[in-house]
Amino acid sequence: MSYVQGDTIVAIATPPGEGGVGIVRLSGPQALRIGQRLCGQKPSSPPWPARQAQFRRFYSPDGLRIDHGITLYFPAPHSYTGEDVVELQGHGSPLALAALLQASGKHGARAARPGEFTERAFLNGRMDLAQAEAVADLIHARSEAQARAAAASLEGVFSKAVAVIHGQLLQLLALVEAGLDFSEEDLGAAHDIAIHEGLIALQQQLLQLLQQAGQGARLARGGRVIIAGRPNVGKSSLMNALAQRDAAIVTPVPGTTRDVLREEILLDGLPIELIDTAGLRESADLVEAEGIARARQILHSAQLILLVADAQAGWQQDDQIILDELPSIPKLLVWNKLDLVANPPEAPADASACAISALKGQGMNSLRAQIMAQMGMDHNGCAFSARERHVEALARAGDKVAEAVCLQKAAGHPELLAQSLREAAHALAQVTGKIDVEDLLGEIFSRFCIGK
Ligand code: GDP
Ligand code: ZN
Repeated sequence: MSYVQGDTIVAIATPPGEGGVGIVRLSGPQALRIGQRLCGQKPSSPPWPARQAQFRRFYSPDGLRIDHGITLYFPAPHSYTGEDVVELQGHGSPLALAALLQASGKHGARAARPGEFTERAFLNGRMDLAQAEAVADLIHARSEAQARAAAASLEGVFSKAVAVIHGQLLQLLALVEAGLDFSEEDLGAAHDIAIHEGLIALQQQLLQLLQQAGQGARLARGGRVIIAGRPNVGKSSLMNALAQRDAAIVTPVPGTTRDVLREEILLDGLPIELIDTAGLRESADLVEAEGIARARQILHSAQLILLVADAQAGWQQDDQIILDELPSIPKLLVWNKLDLVANPPEAPADASACAISALKGQGMNSLRAQIMAQMGMDHNGCAFSARERHVEALARAGDKVAEAVCLQKAAGHPELLAQSLREAAHALAQVTGKIDVEDLLGEIFSRFCIGK
């Protein structure tokens, strides 16, 4: 892999604010020289030893002492970016770090753009694109499950799975192409069977990977659940029970809840936005048409609606009216106040139902499991993190392999079959960024933080 011959970039790698340690990181051909200047050394000084912590003083260009700390030098290509990298680890003082940054600029470094260190790591072949994206996902993880999944992708779990399927695809393509110069009779049935079996195996593996990637992407993106129902059936109480804290206000007077509209909870590490429709209606009244459109959009973007009804009161006409008004996304009827009745009542014919007591906690585990199932998450957790972009690419690859299966059944178009497989391979290669991703890079790396 060739190195990006470019400028030397610099950034504060530690988070803003005061802290125990603050790190300034340089990457590029001048990293060592600039690092040495920052430590008051002459341009002719010998290079620092590789990967060795050394205590040094840091100076401004006019010789004023800024700080002291540890320096580390990672010569190319064995560094995060694949270029020469120097780290100055000083005190976590925003002023000292800003002074170091400024001094680096005077010595010829340029301030790094968001994600530029990782972009260079990708361009220099230190990691593939899915791994680079996992770096950002790990940094931005909001739950332990998200962080674990991102760490797995960063390690290459996802990339390896893609590479295995990509390799099999290419083998199969070679087999198909080998047959292009021969007639069906020359090749015999064995050739056909080998291709058929290869295609079916590929299809299954792609489907499995697509499911896993779908879960990984869902885990990163989070879900949205709407809570609907008549006043006083226990919507706010259910929100509290799911959130496991008393954020929403519960009042015993019908129709007077002025509760929190949205609540972000973690369900097995999956961030879920809970939205109480009572609140939606209120906000819709306040800001009229635009509010209503927004409320509708929020309703439609949910993966699940929990329609809460009172188990003691049974199914009421008003429940039916609310049910009829709800958009056609998956719904679960939740009989609440199970603690007040011996058995949950009959549900209206076409609804799946469960019974809980938001107050006493009965049935809550089963409800949580049903919500997770509706989100497409299995309870073993996510194997790795992924993004919508990856899911789409895998789906495209799956479509192309399905196309190849059809073409093979129809027989007589080996060149079209080969073309489908080539396109499938192309889609897979986009996941790891082997081809055709130039247009994506700006978009992907601009969402990183500066210094990474
Ligand atoms: P909302 O108007 O639908 O948001 O209903 P709330 O959550 O404000 O609850 C209305 C009333 O029902 C309150 O007095 C709650 O304490 C009570 N309630 C909610 N859930 C349960 C439950 O599971 N069992 C019992 N017994 N009362 C409940
Ligand atoms: Zn409420």
